[in-house]
Amino acid sequence: MTGLSAPDAFVTGASVTGLSVSGAPVTGAAGENSGIVRAYVGLGSNLEDPLEHVRTACRELDGIRNTRVAGCSHLYRTPPVGPQDQDDFVNGVAALDTSLAPLELLDALQVLEAAHRRVRLRHWGPRTLDLDLLLYGGRIITHPRLTVPHPEMRRRAFVLVPLRDLAQQLDPDLRLPTGESLEQLLSSLPPGDLKISPVFL
Ligand code: ATP
Ligand code: MG
Ligand code: MG
Repeated sequence: MTGLSAPDAFVTGASVTGLSVSGAPVTGAAGENSGIVRAYVGLGSNLEDPLEHVRTACRELDGIRNTRVAGCSHLYRTPPVGPQDQDDFVNGVAALDTSLAPLELLDALQVLEAAHRRVRLRHWGPRTLDLDLLLYGGRIITHPRLTVPHPEMRRRAFVLVPLRDLAQQLDPDLRLPTGESLEQLLSSLPPGDLKISPVFL
């Protein structure tokens, strides 16, 4: 278990403070050989009690079959993308170790969204819970239901900043399958985008 001082991260396992990490990273050859893949999931909410939705979801990710939460990032309060007539979001990123296939994992994420009564009314509209599959090992996936790496992640500070939090602990050399490092991606964003506020629990 690894803890960071501030801001506090959200819950995983029994911990309620600090960035929580359980077990050893399994990316790289060992992970691939064991059939376990390190996947990263972006979490977001801006309806009802967004903080509670996201914190609960991180616990629930650990309940997905054949899947374990390796860590959850700090949380950030971020302005909405798309329609501006909605509340700010709470965003974070979780690292999963999973032996599910990509579409199986997407199915499980969508079941969790539905359990949080996620309703899709309009594109990029308000939602109780959004779970986006950002990375699935080093795979590039193009499927009618699933594009990995997530096509917008390069442009989103609310994804890249918490992803960097986690990667610093779990996978310092994390790169996109296309070879870009997180620092490269972050440095290509407008500086103002990086000023997202951590949530202090
Ligand atoms: P964005 O993807 O820009 O963040 P969104 O999260 O609001 O937008 P959703 O309504 O959650 O979009 O998802 C729409 C569809 O996107 C889903 O039905 C899913 O099949 C598809 N999809 C494609 N790639 C992914 C991915 N990497 N993660 C999650 N869903 C994906
Ligand atoms: Mg999304
Ligand atoms: Mg989504």
